[in-house]
This record gives sequence, structure tokens and C-alpha cells, in this order.
Amino acid sequence: MSLNILTCNEESMATVMYRAFEPIGSLLNIDRLSVLAVEDNVAKYRYSWRSDGSDNPYGQGFNIDSMTFLQRRLRSLEPILVNDTETLRRDAENEYQMLSELSIQSVAIFPLIDGKSIFGLLVASNTKEPSPWSDTQKTILSRLSTTVSELHIRMRNQKEMTALQDELIEANQRLHIAAETDELTGLPNRRPFMNELEHHANSLYVSTITTMMIDVDHFKQYNDLYGHVQGDFALRYVANALKHILAPCGHMVARIGGEEFCALLINVSHQEALVLAERMRLEVSDLKIPHTGNEPFGVLSVSIGVSHQVVDEQIATQLLLENADAALYRAKEKGRNQVQSEPSENKQ
Ligand code: GH3
Ligand code: MG
Ligand code: MG
Repeated sequence: MSLNILTCNEESMATVMYRAFEPIGSLLNIDRLSVLAVEDNVAKYRYSWRSDGSDNPYGQGFNIDSMTFLQRRLRSLEPILVNDTETLRRDAENEYQMLSELSIQSVAIFPLIDGKSIFGLLVASNTKEPSPWSDTQKTILSRLSTTVSELHIRMRNQKEMTALQDELIEANQRLHIAAETDELTGLPNRRPFMNELEHHANSLYVSTITTMMIDVDHFKQYNDLYGHVQGDFALRYVANALKHILAPCGHMVARIGGEEFCALLINVSHQEALVLAERMRLEVSDLKIPHTGNEPFGVLSVSIGVSHQVVDEQIATQLLLENADAALYRAKEKGRNQVQSEPSENKQ
């Protein structure tokens, strides 16, 4: 029985308690056996067994504010043994009244102690007639109260441990997200981009991989003309514009450094990739962010290098990035604010 109590969890506790109380109550010839939780001077029934099978008073409670005798005696953390409740009539009027209402003739109250404070009471009582508490009854009830206290402490520790674990998991997740997110734009940074690229390059379900290098045109000059703070704002606008085009189709765009972004498109045709690249380029120039240093356009623009690869065997991710970079270089050379592709001709 002790083992059952000690190995139960919070959900099975009520059943285990009830199963334990019944044989203990019968063995000790007691009429009622209950555990009450005490909080803010209110005692509430948690588990209760009654020999006559009458209703379980679960949840019912009473205020012990006015029960000074009970409170005084509990302070010593010793059990309170009352062989005949009539003896309380004179010195503990409120306690007597309540016990009378519950038809209790003799009562044994064992405080349940958690460290130094009382969190509950184990209460055994007789309702048929007053009967003195025997040594056997006292010993077994005392052991039962110790077991219930230990169980409570174990449950509390377990709860605290679980809460702590949950907090740690959450903190870890937050850290993980923060480590993979670019602070300025909120886009993924280089690390998740490279992981994603590597993952797809080795996947059996991938038929094409497109990478794009997207670089803001004459951005050094933008900073020189409008200031670094304004430059940061511009980078956020550009990031949002790129995301606006790619995110709805489920494609990834990351900020891989400075004023450079990288996009990854899986299983799209070369044609589709070029259309999306062109839409991104337009989305940025349509922001119409003034940039007098970006002649002849007069507004902020991006150049995009596209690398499209049909996957028929394992491919080197480095090559995909180098191809995109080479295409970007051509876009810059040919006058910026445009899309160039590697391979350059559209095979589809
Ligand atoms: P190109 O058209 O050839 O790409 O010219 P560019 O000026 O954009 O290229 P360059 O590599 O010479 O300069 C990039 C500039 O981007 C330099 C740097 O000050 C700026 N930059 C990089 N990161 C940030 C950032 O986080 N915030 C701001 N405001 N500027 C940045
Ligand atoms: Mg650059
Ligand atoms: Mg640039």
C-alpha cells in the first residue's frame, strides 16, 4: 500500500488514497478518514473515506480562523487526539460546534508538514460513540500522515522540476531562434540558409535547386548620402519586399551578410525562377526609395544573380552559390538593377 502511494502520480492519487483509506479505516475500526488541504486558514477536503459509504465531501471546506484552540495546538506540529469531543465544549467552543455538526464523537488530527509549515491535515474520526485512541491507531495514523506528507513534497518537487524543465526548453527554443535570425531584418541568417541548402541538395525528392544572390546596388554610396541609420531602414524595406514575393510561394530568403540576401527555391522551373527574380527586382525599385547615387535609376535597386540546377546526382552546394555569384557579377557589370542567370539561356 505504501508503495502504491509512493509511486502514484497526481492523477492517480485520489484513487490510490481512497483504496488505501478503506482498508486502513476498517483495520483501525475508524468511521471516517480524510485528508484536508489547508491554505490561508481554510481547510478543504481532498480525499475522504466514510465507513457508512455516505457522500464524499470533496472540495467542501471550513474556515479555521476562529478556531483558536485548533490553531494553537497545531502550532506545535504535534497530533491532536481528542477521545471525547464533549471535553471541548468548554474550552474550544467553535471546534466543538463544528465537530457536533459533523456528528464527530472522537477525533485524531495529524498535521501534514511540508518543511516547517502545515499544508494539510489527516483527520480520523468516530461518529458512533466516543472511543479513546489506541497506540496501534496512533502509530499507524502517524505513519500514514508521514507518507502523505512525503508524497505531497515529492509531487511539489516534481511539479517545480517540470516547470523548470519547460522554462529551460522554452529558453532554449528562443535562443535557437535568435541564433538563426538576423536581428535587423528578422529574416533567417546564413546558418539556417546553408543548412536548408545542404538538406535539399541531398534529398531524393528534389528535382531542381535554384539559388539567388541579391545585392543592393551602390549601397555604400547610399550610406554615404543618407546616413547609416537610413541605410538600416532601407535594408529592412528591401528584406520585406523580397519576402513579400517569395514567402507566399514557400521559398526561403535569408540575409547572409551586409546588403546581400540569398534565396532558395526548390522544385521550380528555370522559367518560374526567373519570373520570381524579376518580380523581386521590381518590388524593390517600386519602393521608390530615393537614391541619387544610383544613376540612372535614382531609386534604390537590387541586382540578382540566379543559379538554376537540375538535380540528377549529388551536387556541390558551393557550386550553386558560386554560379549565383557569377551571375550577380554579370548583373552588376551590365548596369545593375537587373536579373542575370547561370546558365544564362533558359532551357525550359
Ligand atoms: P555594388 O552596387 O557594387 O554592390 O556596390 P555597393 O556599394 O553596394 O557594394 P559595397 O560592397 O562596396 O558596399 C556595401 C555597403 O553596404 C558597405 C556597407 O557600409 C554597407 N552595409 C553593410 N551592412 C550594412 C548594414 O547593416 N547597415 C547599413 N546601413 N549598411 C550596411
Ligand atoms: Mg555586396
Ligand atoms: Mg551592393
